[in-house]
Formats: sequence, C-alpha cells, structure tokens
Amino acid sequence: MMDNTKMHKSLGIDLKAHDTLIRALPELFKECFLNKEQDLKSLSYFYSVVADIHGTRVKELIEHKNKGPVIGSFCIYVPEEIILAIGGQLVGLCAGADFWVPYGEQIVPKNLCPLIKAGIGAKFSKTCPYFQVIDLLIGENTCDGKKKAWEILSDMVEMYIMDMPNKKSNSGLKLWQEEVKSLCNFLEKKFSKPISFDSLLKAVQKVNAKRSALNRLYETRKNSPTPISGIDTLLVTQIGFYDDTERYTKMVETLAKECEEKALSNSKSNDKKRILVTGSPMVVPNWKVHHVIETSGADVVVEENCTGTRYFKDNVSIENSLAKEDLLKNISDRYIRNINCACFSPNTDREEEILKICKDYKVDGIVYASLSFCTTYMIEAEKIRKVAKKNNIPMITVESDYSFSDLGQLRTRIEAFIENL
Ligand code: SF4
Ligand code: SF4
Repeated sequence: MMDNTKMHKSLGIDLKAHDTLIRALPELFKECFLNKEQDLKSLSYFYSVVADIHGTRVKELIEHKNKGPVIGSFCIYVPEEIILAIGGQLVGLCAGADFWVPYGEQIVPKNLCPLIKAGIGAKFSKTCPYFQVIDLLIGENTCDGKKKAWEILSDMVEMYIMDMPNKKSNSGLKLWQEEVKSLCNFLEKKFSKPISFDSLLKAVQKVNAKRSALNRLYETRKNSPTPISGIDTLLVTQIGFYDDTERYTKMVETLAKECEEKALSNSKSNDKKRILVTGSPMVVPNWKVHHVIETSGADVVVEENCTGTRYFKDNVSIENSLAKEDLLKNISDRYIRNINCACFSPNTDREEEILKICKDYKVDGIVYASLSFCTTYMIEAEKIRKVAKKNNIPMITVESDYSFSDLGQLRTRIEAFIENL
C-alpha cells in the first residue's frame, strides 16, 4: 500500500488523529470480512477499495480536480447525474465511524443521530480526506437535524442546500423539479461549465447502468441459499457512494455474474432464516447490525434503506427526452417518486415497498434498525410494525449508534428473535 502521508498533509489532515482513526478500521474490517470463508473472487476488488480507503481513491479525486470539481453529499436525493454532467465526481461522505462522534459532540447536542455528529466531527477533526478534498458540499433539508447541521457546517466548508418537500403531492413534485433545475443552474455558473443535452444524457445512462448492475446483484440474493452474504453486499453498496461510477459498475456486473453462476451451481440448500433489514442508512464502516445477524445464524438477504434498495431502485427514464429540460424533469421524478425516505408524510409507499420486497426475497423476518435519535425512522417503525403484523411477518426494532457498547445486548435480542422465527 502506498504511503499517503504526503498527500494527507497537502489536504490539511491532522495526521496524528488520522493515525488513530485508521488503526481502528483494520480490526473491524478483519472481524467482519477477512476472518470468514469467502468463495467469491470478485469481492477482492471491493475489499481492496475499503482496505485502502484513504489512499488510491483520494489520489484519484485530487487528480480529477484538474478536470472538474469534486462534490460531497450526505443523501441519496442529491442527483449524481447532474454532478457527472458538469464533469464532476460525487462523493458520499460516509460518517459511519464512532471515532468522529466525540468531535461532533463538542459542537452539536449529544441527542442527535450518530450520522450527523460523525459528519460534523469528520470535518471538525480534519481526519476525513474526502471531506478535505471536496470543492463543495450539497446538503438537503430532509430531517431537522441535518437542516440545522448545514448551518454549522457551512462555516467550515462551502455548501449548497437543496430544499425538500414533505409530501409527494403535485406541489411537492413541482418544488423538487425547481430545486433540481436550480442546482443545475448553480453548478453550471459556479464551475463555468454549461450542461448540454448530450452531457446530461450520458450522465443519466452512466448512473442508470450503475443502478442496473446493483439491481442484478441484489436479484441473485432472491436465491435460496443466497450466493452472497448480506454484509458483503452492504460493503459493495457502500463503496458505490464514492467509487468511480463506470469502474464500479463493471466490478458490480462481474460480481453479479459470479453470484448468478454460484446460485445456478448451488445444489446444497440451507435452512437459515432470511432477514430483511430496514431503517436508517448504514454507511462505511457501520457493519454492526449485519455482523450480529449473520454471526447469529441468519442471512440478511435484502436491505430496504438508503444503503440498500432505495439507492438503486428504478432508473431515470430517457424515453421521449429530446431536450435537457425533459431529462431534468425525469431526474426529478425518479428521485422524488421512488425514494421512500421517512422525511415524507405520509410515507405509505414504503409500507407497500417493504411488503413487496418481503415477498420477492422470501423473507422470514424483519430487523428494523434505526440509528439512535433518528426520529423519523424511529417513529415510522410503528407503522411498519403494524403492516408487518397484519401480514404475519415477524419484526424486531433495534436502535443503535456506532459504538460497540451495546453489542452484547444487541446480540441477545437478535439471537432470540432469530430463534423464534
Ligand atoms: S434516509 Fe432520507 S435523508 Fe437519509 S440518506 Fe436516505 S433519503 Fe436521505
Ligand atoms: S439518520 Fe435519521 S436523523 Fe440522522 S440524518 Fe438521517 S434521517 Fe436524519
């Protein structure tokens, strides 16, 4: 692995604190990924990306800055297509490490979700090279915590905020269409790069291809036994938030092909219970819930969250698109109609979606995993519990942060849940 010290120094990283952060990752990585049997060769690419998480990709992004901007985001509502169309690269700022939480708590209240605290802490501690490399951060007014966090972060990094409707009504859709158009105008001006119909079309096709590849991979998990573990699929999906889009798509396609072949040649069945994980996003390196479920004897076969199906389901339509405006409208439509974030009220589409996924993936039970203080997802658990009960699908709700202090308690509850399925 290359020595990244010089590069990190040039980004203004606090090297001493960064060393502590990086030392924590290999242990966790070893436990979750390396210390288990693995027969999927194509996973080695994804393992190598995360093993070198602050190295090669950061170097690529620094080099990319000669050609176009590097832009950060915290939410899957920020349309990657528009960033690619101005020649930019979009990076999901992971904020999944407990290391950053105490830094965040120096600035914001403790009773906020770990994702927000870690996000602020990552910037404040100057230990995340992705945060250091971005030219702009695009925030979105989804939950209240994030809305207020942007005000604090905007003192540390240049930000552009997208407003979000609360309802998927016609007026909500109109507001979002305007927001998508305004983002496009803003980026064109800021980076002096007009977006043409062709450049936007190409970007839409690239992101659609990425979504289709992930969809193909997830389809293989419908097999029993599933050819790929839940924790490996989670890792693959998480990498999609910051890897180069085209290279990543190819790698996911290769992996999906290997999984298809493995599923076809698999003659042995297993009687492991099949689990759907739903709730708040699980960003790198938050592998805790999957790790507990899969070391308790069950398989996570699908995730209905933003680091799961919500990230890639449904492509942007290119049919009958003759002008840039048509594509922008189709982009707005895909994001607003098809992502069922708990920030919407009502959010009945999510209930239907979960039932459909349970049927398609032959799910035996639901683990509803909410991040602590993630109010919207915690409250919405009640609606999902009712709908699951009506359809005879057992569900357990767990609330956790990024620390390992509740690992024993989490394991006891999840093991008991799996045993009762
Ligand atoms: S849960 Fe909602 S706010 Fe959070 S990343 Fe997903 S869409 Fe965005
Ligand atoms: S995890 Fe929940 S509280 Fe945290 S940023 Fe996302 S929606 Fe907001």
